[in-house]
Amino acid sequence: MVELPPSAALLSRLSPEPVLGVSMAHVSLLRLDRTGGLAPGNKSFKLQGNIAAAQRDGISKLVSFGGTWSNHLHALAAAAHEQGMESVGLVRGGEQDTAMLADARAWGMQVELLSRSDYRRRNDPEYLRRVAERYAPCLLIPEGGANPEGVVGCAGIADMVRQHAPEITRVVLAVGTGTTLAGLAAGLGSATATGIVGISALRGAQDLEQRIQRALVNCGGGDHASWQILHDHHCGGFARTTPALKEFILAFESVQGIALDPVYTGKMLYAVHQLCASGQWDSSPLLALHTGGLQGRRGFAW
Ligand SMILES: *Cc1c(COP(=O)(O)O)cnc(C)c1O
Repeated sequence: MVELPPSAALLSRLSPEPVLGVSMAHVSLLRLDRTGGLAPGNKSFKLQGNIAAAQRDGISKLVSFGGTWSNHLHALAAAAHEQGMESVGLVRGGEQDTAMLADARAWGMQVELLSRSDYRRRNDPEYLRRVAERYAPCLLIPEGGANPEGVVGCAGIADMVRQHAPEITRVVLAVGTGTTLAGLAAGLGSATATGIVGISALRGAQDLEQRIQRALVNCGGGDHASWQILHDHHCGGFARTTPALKEFILAFESVQGIALDPVYTGKMLYAVHQLCASGQWDSSPLLALHTGGLQGRRGFAW
């Protein structure tokens, strides 16, 4: 199970003090950034399903892919350390001395740097067969924890939404692979009055809807909450930032006293802020998921 703090700590109602002139008083945050031990956030939910599968099969080594600031590899190293398992991180070339990689190594992750061309093959079955052979016996987890076990693990987030915000009609979260959204939608089921809005952190990820639909089918089918993706709030692309995004994040943090990461949660709440400011969204209560990712904030010298 993902470790949970006392219930009261999991929901933060935002302060009525405006952020850059816009009230966010109708927004509550579900604080996944306070769950999951050493590496808080949604990644520990995705890994939970994978670790359970590995343990069932008597496998004690987890192998996966990510960049040098990957929240996923950070959480994988932490979870393996906490569970007494081994971990291998296959890392895309780039800046080598990040705080993320330092943590991962300190937690015992074997860090292997891949060339850009090898990294590009991270979803190629023939390449994956060779990787699995090289580290056997192991469980090979796709980049971002994007597999059916990851979807199943994220259904736990739906339990939290039901418990902490049973009346809510709109839940908003940042989307990368869509695994978390799929798990949440499946976990909430079709009987709910809650609709889900995903804010894509990637530019031009037009196949995202299809991938989420496939993930939902793979995990058992049609019974899921309604959901949609907004594609226009990526601020220039994955892990890119704009001066306006930075201004919003710094203002939000100083008014609300809650840290955001610029890659996911910052863009998601900036989207909420813009949709409320423009009147496209009214001020009915909404629940935004703080999915963590704060380790990555260390990569931004703000
Ligand atoms: C990975 C991540 C997401 C996106 O999760 P997906 O399941 O890939 O859509 C959102 N927020 C944070 C902080 C993340 O690290």
